[in-house]
Amino acid sequence: MSAELFRLTIAEARDRLARREISAVDLTRSCLDRIADLERRLNAFITVCPREAMDQAAAADARLARGGAPTLCGIPLAIKDIYLTRGIRTTCASKILGNFVAPYDATVIAKLREAGAIFLGKANMDEFAMGSSTENSAFGPTRNPYDLRRVAGGSSGGSAAAVAADECLASLGTDTGGSIREPASFCGVVGIKPTYSRVSRYGVIAFASSLDQVGPFTKTVRDAAILLHELAGGDPLDSTCSARPVPNYEAALTGDIKGLRIGVPREYFVEGMDREVEEAVRGALKQLAELGAQTVEISLPHTEYAIATYYILATAEASANLARYDGIRYGLRVEADNNIELYNRTRAKGFGPEVKRRIMLGTFALSSGYYDAYYLKAQKVRTLIRRDFERAFANCDIIVTPVAPTTAFNLGEKMADPLQMYLSDIFTISVNLAGLPGLSIPCGYDRAGMPIGLQIIGAPFDEATMLRAADAYERSGAMIRRSPTL
Ligand code: GLN
Repeated sequence: MSAELFRLTIAEARDRLARREISAVDLTRSCLDRIADLERRLNAFITVCPREAMDQAAAADARLARGGAPTLCGIPLAIKDIYLTRGIRTTCASKILGNFVAPYDATVIAKLREAGAIFLGKANMDEFAMGSSTENSAFGPTRNPYDLRRVAGGSSGGSAAAVAADECLASLGTDTGGSIREPASFCGVVGIKPTYSRVSRYGVIAFASSLDQVGPFTKTVRDAAILLHELAGGDPLDSTCSARPVPNYEAALTGDIKGLRIGVPREYFVEGMDREVEEAVRGALKQLAELGAQTVEISLPHTEYAIATYYILATAEASANLARYDGIRYGLRVEADNNIELYNRTRAKGFGPEVKRRIMLGTFALSSGYYDAYYLKAQKVRTLIRRDFERAFANCDIIVTPVAPTTAFNLGEKMADPLQMYLSDIFTISVNLAGLPGLSIPCGYDRAGMPIGLQIIGAPFDEATMLRAADAYERSGAMIRRSPTL
């Protein structure tokens, strides 16, 4: 029986652990065995920590036996390798941090540790979260559990694949332009990017600080509500983190969406989208209408500038954030006769091609003479994009769109053409620019059996309504989940 414990959801495991029907040790061992079975094919993890996880599991069992343990006590998770974890190496999928062990935990890691959650290991990702396929990892790509020839999406591809393949009950990712929602869509799991500032970023390696957000991957919407509740909330160590009270997201899952107004943006159903993706999304909209929601057409007129705007702002911020990797403070050092040469050699050897491309782009956009034309202009367009959403939310409660224009593509297919790769995030990037919450929920499969994701976007800090709609859709049974055959 214990062999299949890895298939449990957080909600199921929580109840069975509380009733002492299963132990955290058995549950954790089951996940670790599953990881051992699948990792050679999937490569969802950069580091697996069996010893630490089993120690945590034993401690969780002791706590559960005493009674009154927190919700996540004994729940095994995978953590994107961008979160600092005390005592466990954090690489950000880069050679430049290949041997880096952080001296402290990220705030969300500390919270989860405190709550008794178990860390199975550090999940694979694109180097410094730059990418849409996890092919930019210095540790090799993650493969899609539904088809090993295809990508898992990115940049949090390892976290998404690990949940889809039942290597863990849930995981953490980060989303700067789509890095939770796109891999969730490609791997057929639920993924949430919360409102900017809803969750602390302290101890999360920075890519583009005005866009980065922390969020969960789970098997169900209920699990996402449970995990988000644990992650969200103020943090004195992150001055951008909001101290607003955190609602009980699980209690918001009433199943009732009668009268909910769903905005459908005209600009998101355009040429270039897979027909099967469009059909699945239209089908989901119909289902939501049958559940009592109303759809209204809305317009987000500045959508066409989102990708260009993002690639100026994100690269500008990245070029500043990544200046700290110089061979002096952390990780890799390539020795040389003088400091400048040491920096040069270390960065030349430590960073991969996409990261170098972004640092050069960002440095250029910020340089004198170009700053006004690029960076400042992009900031202004960002404001226009945010206003588009503000206007739209005057007439609707949530916005529904596809997550990505296609399902998971083949490994190698877009590596030679960065601009093609950048287009994978065409429907997710505006949400980060506007700072809004967005989630991805499975809404079908294409003819090849690859999962298709539905994006639900919420008003600022209204994760609860977004989750309620997703849960109502999930409960309706319109979408029947298929496990990957592995
Ligand atoms: N794919 C986008 C990029 O490469 C977004 C990545 C992310 O959200 N971290 O920048």
